[in-house]
Amino acid sequence: MLDLTGKRALVTGIANNRSIAWGIAQQLHAAGADLGVTYLPDAKGKMEKKVKDLVEPLNPSLFLPCNVQDEAQVTETFDAVKKQWGQLDILVHCLAFANRDDLMGDFSETSKAGFQLALDISAYSLVSLSRAAKLLMTDGGSIVTLTYLGGVKVIPNYNVMGIAKAALEMNVRYLAADLGSSNIRVNGISAGPIRTLASSAVGGILDMIHHVEDIAPLHRTVTQEEVGKAAAFLCSDLSSGVTGQILYVDSGYNIMGM
Ligand code: NAD
Repeated sequence: MLDLTGKRALVTGIANNRSIAWGIAQQLHAAGADLGVTYLPDAKGKMEKKVKDLVEPLNPSLFLPCNVQDEAQVTETFDAVKKQWGQLDILVHCLAFANRDDLMGDFSETSKAGFQLALDISAYSLVSLSRAAKLLMTDGGSIVTLTYLGGVKVIPNYNVMGIAKAALEMNVRYLAADLGSSNIRVNGISAGPIRTLASSAVGGILDMIHHVEDIAPLHRTVTQEEVGKAAAFLCSDLSSGVTGQILYVDSGYNIMGM
């Protein structure tokens, strides 16, 4: 049985009730985990209020601002985790960002600044969060991130985010090899296209979803809940022998050649 009772889980990337991280947080909570939630702070505090109201029913023990571009905020986040819990069992990395202009049109037009921004937020952040998390995962742990097929194959308009996801997927493997001796497992979920705030920035997301409905073995796209259930599995002892893997939760779309 999937049981996360007594596990302390830090979940990043909840922006609203469509966020994949929200689907994951609900599943971890349902399995008995104690939650810590981070949000991306903004000048007017709008995100803080929105996310706080949303997660309230899950009764998180921690609710913290964390912009992964800001190393000081990452340090403060894990200092707060240490103070509250002493240790950490689960880290969910569920965030990404690229400029909207870099998610459409000609890939060769990607600017250096846009490339660096996308890679910093969407890929390097897994390294910096894992580095901080490993110090608190003293009884082992599970780190899960979210990726997409566009990091393996060319998907129209995904552009620089495909490069970021390719880097992210290699981060998963290198981190798994590095942290395995501390019994910390690192895995990724490659989710099928889902309508969210982030995916709406990718040109033609609805066409991608309709294409999946036509082609995928299950003839539908996946839900946040389905991704959440797979994440809960990867966070639990049911997957104790699994690390360095990318698990496709995409209605089987990735297996199709035509
Ligand atoms: P979302 O917009 O709900 O979540 C993206 C999150 O990233 C937001 O909470 C946002 O606040 C956060 N974020 C952006 N910049 C940040 C920063 N500097 N510091 C901290 N947080 C920051 O969208 P989502 O689709 O749920 O995306 C979550 C993850 O799932 C992303 O990695 C995305 O690439 C991945 N993914 C999404 C899909 C999809 O179709 N929606 C498919 C596969 C993978």
